[in-house]
Amino acid sequence: MEIKAIRGFNDILPDEIGKWQFVEKNAREVFEGFGFSEIRIPILERTELFSRGIGEATDIVEKEMYTFTDRSGNSLTLRPEATASMARAYLEHQLYTFDPVAKLYCIGPMFRYERPQKGRYRQFYQIDAEVFGVENPMVDAEVIVMLVRFLRRVGLEKLELQLNTLGDRNCRPRYREELKRFLMNKSFQLCEDCQRRLQTNPLRIFDCKVETCQEAIADAPKVSDFVCSECQKHFDKVKEYLEMAGLEYILNPRMVRGLDYYTRTAFEVVSYQLGSQNAVAGGGRYDNLFQEIGGLEIPGIGFAVGMERLVSLLPKDKVFVSYPHLFIAALGEEPLKEAYRMINQLHLDGIRAELDYEGKSLKSQMRRADKLKARYVLILGEDELKRGKAALRNMGTKSQEEISIDKLSEILKSKIL
Ligand code: AMP
Repeated sequence: MEIKAIRGFNDILPDEIGKWQFVEKNAREVFEGFGFSEIRIPILERTELFSRGIGEATDIVEKEMYTFTDRSGNSLTLRPEATASMARAYLEHQLYTFDPVAKLYCIGPMFRYERPQKGRYRQFYQIDAEVFGVENPMVDAEVIVMLVRFLRRVGLEKLELQLNTLGDRNCRPRYREELKRFLMNKSFQLCEDCQRRLQTNPLRIFDCKVETCQEAIADAPKVSDFVCSECQKHFDKVKEYLEMAGLEYILNPRMVRGLDYYTRTAFEVVSYQLGSQNAVAGGGRYDNLFQEIGGLEIPGIGFAVGMERLVSLLPKDKVFVSYPHLFIAALGEEPLKEAYRMINQLHLDGIRAELDYEGKSLKSQMRRADKLKARYVLILGEDELKRGKAALRNMGTKSQEEISIDKLSEILKSKIL
């Protein structure tokens, strides 16, 4: 039987990869411009990192992690997100001894056992950026500005930046209790999962897609009405700095984000082109995460961009595939050998060149050059080769000229590079 990929795991094929490379290149350029450095972290971590970091009573930890026991009996988990691993690396390598402020980004696959649908997969890619060691709201704004600049630079439009504050460990417990009290009276309306969430983590109910649950929380108290004066001051500053940077936002008091470690600032960038899975990126501040995983008081803020969703939003009229600059149609044994020698040099000169290895007829080679969308074809026959010449055909204009073989690289460079 034919073996197929696992459900929710996708291949990214060559005709799509140009978009991914474009997005990654722009992320690197924008983030490095903002002073961020790349970090590469393992895909597997000890399960404890996520259960303690993300929180036991979150959907991710309760039911979405790919967890298994290795041959030595350790419980390991395929990372469902990157922030906890980045924080672990920062602590483990004591990056704070060099400079307490670390600005890091990472690009790679994440794994969550969710129900696959359009825009939601079991292996998906994220671009993550995090700042560790700064509590000042200026950095919250800076991180958000960087995210929006990046999304605009790759060509996304019609985006909405949604903003909320979630309070901190001083004021959120009071809100939690208030929300619980409010929902207790409506518990008959809640789905089975939310009945459980009501006891373990009532804020999660905001994220439930079940209609009766959404109705139940429609008039629920808002977290923003319960935040303490310190959190309010912090949030006011974030908004002020965003305004200074000329960024528009809307306040969404119902956005709570799916992970327990968020405190204070929470944000999402939503696209109305995307359908139900409409969040392209999300993030927030997490001043308790380090405490959970390493016992140190280190503040942090960051975001993750979902690559699949971002790639699906790229402008449709932009070409991301790289076609060959040149196809060499060699006719005969000697010309094919010469083509092989030429192509090795052209590749060193940065010219994307292809040839036909099978010595097929000119007609069939021209057909292939056409299919590959080569911009030029060099027709190399026995007689021309003896004279050191070949015919260079422009596939767009269909015009053809005779050129000296030893000038090929120079001529092509002047035409295409
Ligand atoms: P989160 O880590 O849940 O805050 O998600 C951050 C971003 O990652 C979201 O805004 C999505 O764009 C993307 N994302 C999260 N989960 C998935 C998934 N299962 N499949 C595809 N993209 C996802």
